Amino acid sequence: MSTIESRSPQNPDDIVVSAGRMSAGEVEATFARAREAQRQWWALGAAGRALALNAAADALEQRAAEATDLVVREVGKPVSEAKGEVARGVAILRYYAQASFAPKGDVLPPSAGVMLWNERRPHGVVGLITPWNFPVAIPLWKAAPALSAGNAVVMKPSQDAIACALFLQEVIAPHLPAGLFRVAVGGGADVGNALTANADCISFTGSTKVGRQIVMTAAARNVPVQAEMGGLNAAIVLEDADYEKTAAIIAGAAMWFAGQKCTATSRVIVVGDGDFETPFIKAVESLKVGDPADAAVTVGPLINRASLLDFQAALDSARASGGRFLTGDDPAQGLFVKPVVLAGLAVDHPLSCNEVFGPIVTVHRAATPQDAIEMANAVEYGLVTGIHGRDMNQLMSLAAQAHSGLVKINASTSGVDFYAPFGGEKMSSYGMREQGLAALEFYSRTTTVTLAQH
Ligand code: NAD
Repeated sequence: MSTIESRSPQNPDDIVVSAGRMSAGEVEATFARAREAQRQWWALGAAGRALALNAAADALEQRAAEATDLVVREVGKPVSEAKGEVARGVAILRYYAQASFAPKGDVLPPSAGVMLWNERRPHGVVGLITPWNFPVAIPLWKAAPALSAGNAVVMKPSQDAIACALFLQEVIAPHLPAGLFRVAVGGGADVGNALTANADCISFTGSTKVGRQIVMTAAARNVPVQAEMGGLNAAIVLEDADYEKTAAIIAGAAMWFAGQKCTATSRVIVVGDGDFETPFIKAVESLKVGDPADAAVTVGPLINRASLLDFQAALDSARASGGRFLTGDDPAQGLFVKPVVLAGLAVDHPLSCNEVFGPIVTVHRAATPQDAIEMANAVEYGLVTGIHGRDMNQLMSLAAQAHSGLVKINASTSGVDFYAPFGGEKMSSYGMREQGLAALEFYSRTTTVTLAQH
């Protein structure tokens, strides 16, 4: 059996795990066992499922410190953020444990017979394909509602987050019927394909390129699919914004965890000619880059060498186009890079239009608030729009025009509430929303039943 290694980005000599790659036959066998387990799970009823998911939450909470250390070590997430992510994972499990009791349909007035109702039923075995950047929260915000709705789950994690996924399986699976929640280790082309060929419903989070392929595969098989993909989020700074506070918020949104979030701010659009750059550069330069296990550090390493090469190529292209580096542009130390703020790039420059998964933002100027929102909307992506200012009429008018799934007013573009629907517009998302009660709809199908009287 071939193996895959996941290494720590802050110390690439540290092999966090070396795990066996599943063959296509093993993936099929995993699905067959999951199908058996799903029947058992559904037969448990809402109370049984809630009990098991609460027990899984307790188990994760008990091992929260271990989980936090693993997230820091495997993906280089700064420890304060890693701690928050694990706590969020526990809360997500508890939320969906309780959601097992939510109403699952409506009773309607029958036109004939005595009763007409609809009810939500599970799809069967759900296939999850997850990225590396939220190695606890993303698997759980998909798996917990899928399980709560009565499905089994087979999950293929990113090759860069295998240890975290296996840890979740070790902690959670003992509280569920055997085979109900399984991690399938492997690459996209092998295990990813086997998963999309077998699943009754598919949920994906990752790049737009891969997500679009998965959507097409699912459509050809006629199975439900949702895909959460890239972002190129703008933060608009209005003339009446509090520049100091706004600068600190945007610096964190763009650069924490080395900017490796789909919700990170990538473009700052300043309205008018006020000097936002000075406080912004100060806020960016105050962020500590270094060992993510150090509690004072907010910017850790990039995830791997391919990501570093993408980042460096982006800087080269900015240089070649006359971009001005307001800060950053120091040589990389291993996979560590200094946050970069760029100005002077045209709005149609590739860097202003394509996601670079790293600590980099471009700053643009807009003459009016209307120009700013049009600039924010003029990209293929539509995940989050940030708007900063004081005039409530102005803020609400711009919020209403944003082509994005989330609008954040005077708040960081990154960070989501797991009990609210989450997803984007345009190339950022496909299919139904994730999280909140919306997720329960995606992970179930509606059956309408008529009862007549003889
Ligand atoms: P990625 O697309 O490279 O990989 C995501 C997953 O897809 C991995 O598990 C990978 O192995 C798998 N995969 C790759 N090719 C496949 C194939 N042909 N068939 C099936 N599976 C395949 O993304 P990544 O580098 O892990 O994550 C970064 C990306 O994720 C960024 O673009 C970021 O914006 C996005 N992201 C989006 C959200 C969101 O909610 N919108 C959240 C986090 C990350």
